[in-house]
Amino acid sequence: MTPRRFAPGEPLAVLTTQPLDGALDYRAPEGGVVLGAFVEVPLGPRKVMGVVWGEAEGDWPVEKLRPVLGVLDVPPMTPGMRAFLERAAAYTLTPLVSMLRLAMRVPGPGEKPGKRRLYTLGDGEPDRVTDARTKVLALLEERRGDLFALSELADLAGVSTGVVKGLLPSGAVAEVEAPRDAPYPVLDPARPGKPLAPDQQAAADLLRDHLRTGGYGTTLLKGVTGSGKTEVYLEAVAECLSEGRQALVLLPEIALTSEFLKRVEARFGATPAEWHSGVTQAERRRCWRMVAEGQAKLVVGARSSLFLPYPRLGLIVVDEEHDTSYKQEDGVLYSARDMAVLRAAEEGARVVLASATPSLESWANVEAGKYDRLDLTSRFGERAMPVLRAIDMRAETVPAGRWISPTLRGAIARRLEAGEQSLVFLNRRGYAPVTLCRACGQQVACHQCDARMVEHRFLKRLMCHQCGETRPMPETCPSCGIEGKMAPVGPGVERMAEEVAELFPDARAAVLSSDLFGSARALKAAVEEIAAGGADIVIGTQLVAKGHNFPLLTLVGVIDADLGLQGGDLRAAERTFQLMRQVSGRAGRADRPGEALLQTYQPEHPVIRAILSGDEEGFWAAEAAERRAAGVPPYGRMAGIVISDPEASVAFDLGNALARRAQVLEEVGAEVWGPAPAPIARIRGRHRVRLLVKAPRQAPIQGALARWIGQVDVPRSTRLSVDIDPQSFL
Ligand SMILES: [Zn+2]
Ligand SMILES: [Zn+2]
Repeated sequence: MTPRRFAPGEPLAVLTTQPLDGALDYRAPEGGVVLGAFVEVPLGPRKVMGVVWGEAEGDWPVEKLRPVLGVLDVPPMTPGMRAFLERAAAYTLTPLVSMLRLAMRVPGPGEKPGKRRLYTLGDGEPDRVTDARTKVLALLEERRGDLFALSELADLAGVSTGVVKGLLPSGAVAEVEAPRDAPYPVLDPARPGKPLAPDQQAAADLLRDHLRTGGYGTTLLKGVTGSGKTEVYLEAVAECLSEGRQALVLLPEIALTSEFLKRVEARFGATPAEWHSGVTQAERRRCWRMVAEGQAKLVVGARSSLFLPYPRLGLIVVDEEHDTSYKQEDGVLYSARDMAVLRAAEEGARVVLASATPSLESWANVEAGKYDRLDLTSRFGERAMPVLRAIDMRAETVPAGRWISPTLRGAIARRLEAGEQSLVFLNRRGYAPVTLCRACGQQVACHQCDARMVEHRFLKRLMCHQCGETRPMPETCPSCGIEGKMAPVGPGVERMAEEVAELFPDARAAVLSSDLFGSARALKAAVEEIAAGGADIVIGTQLVAKGHNFPLLTLVGVIDADLGLQGGDLRAAERTFQLMRQVSGRAGRADRPGEALLQTYQPEHPVIRAILSGDEEGFWAAEAAERRAAGVPPYGRMAGIVISDPEASVAFDLGNALARRAQVLEEVGAEVWGPAPAPIARIRGRHRVRLLVKAPRQAPIQGALARWIGQVDVPRSTRLSVDIDPQSFL
């Protein structure tokens, strides 16, 4: 199909990435331009980028329109991509320009290929050492092999560009002329893969069949940890590549990428393109352009790689599809899992959702016949699932300020004797969740947020987990001024490390928590060292639940299995179930059987019992029945509205004004709850008010929400955000 071509001087509409209400009309430049072309247009006194979006919308005389200034030397945006952006904008109630911005997050897309100057670690020694210079060299040391633009390197190191330049004469930093946009090495889908077990082979054959048949479809690939899901979906990737189409694999955690890249290289003989926040600007540009030209055949990336300009997309894999990090929680609020399905539907591509513990949403879509389901039953190499047992904390004697029960302690001691690894799991960062003054009873709170400061002993600071503000640990109480009475209350992962060190002074312990590593690479190095046997006891947060391989690990001890069940989140049971199963799955991956011990004060709780019994289908069915009865997702629709303002009363007034005008929502069968103060009632000095909209599953909720919000004027100081299908209720 040849795209619509606009003859020179013909009127057309351009959607720019500027915060405007929609597309603007222009005149086609000399030589004409095709629909979807990336162009530069004048906007007031400025030159901005945009995409030719369609026919001119206004009825201005052509001679009044300003001409398109230039057409960028990149392939035009495909009809499938434009349709995807429009549907995604409509679904999430996001302005189309915000969606376009996600699709154009690329430095200098219009710049000519040619060469450019980039900076990397040199072999010289600096003639003089300063703090600023050390920062630059430490960054380059850690990211050996990466090539940075000058300003990018300075920004990342937190220094001026002068500091970087000052390191050039001594050769400590090297300047190189690098070609822009080098093609990626060719992946060979015909190379033999790993030998597959019979159930893996059957699943791989089915996925290959789906791709050969063509057209859109989604498959849930379910298999316990260690069942070899990756090998199976790499066969689908192989089929996709051999048909000359492009494939995308989404991963929830950047730190997981390197392990995955090795598996891709083993399968296809070369590494794929990468797209995530840890990739340099030069690499981002290369990836974006090579994807647009169809040269990058396989992309491995974070959720934003869904917005790359694939011209021939054949497959999207969403690995660990249940992972909450697929939901973007600021800026444009979208779920990458749902957007993957939307994009694939527009492109006639297949989706594979892989997980050991699928989300209830995906489970319900299988039940409703919308998705296919494939199960991998055996652990690869016939490994058994770990034995799960509860430790009833009501029957254990644990001293005050201590959390490891005698039973768990004994189990760890046995692993130490056998030379095996143990994991002590607590899903709480920092040293202690609360810092309290023993003299006056006040807790240390953040100045800007309605949140307690959390002690991070490794950093020797208090930190607010809402806004990230840190402060030195006070010697005297900020409330009463009495000295030496500040005390930690409750356990965090750092405090667990202290307890482990006291109980097992001779054991080598390692802490894995996201805030303890400056970068994905540092984290990766720590994970690899542990996997190789560099620690006897690992103390970790949910970071360790995300698919890392620890072959020597045979015991998982969960410090507080009840933690996730507190709080009123509708997904609390689902999340706890998933997390506990994921964490337990870390044990016994090699030839040694594993054991998982869950410390709990409520061993009779239905969720805890479901986790222990391993009756997944029973758990999902029960959870589904409860949600269906309550009319909540996935059996009903929800939208969260958060209004924030420096003045609480302004936020409340707007919330009340919306609540009074709920008629348009009621017409589609939706109800409004609130306004009420959000559970975190203040963040960064802004007061937060929440409304919750609940609607039947089939209700046309987006249109009704747009009409509803359109009735009120939002004051300048106020922010109003709409979150369709919210995952977080804070
Ligand atoms: Zn005090
Ligand atoms: Zn704060």
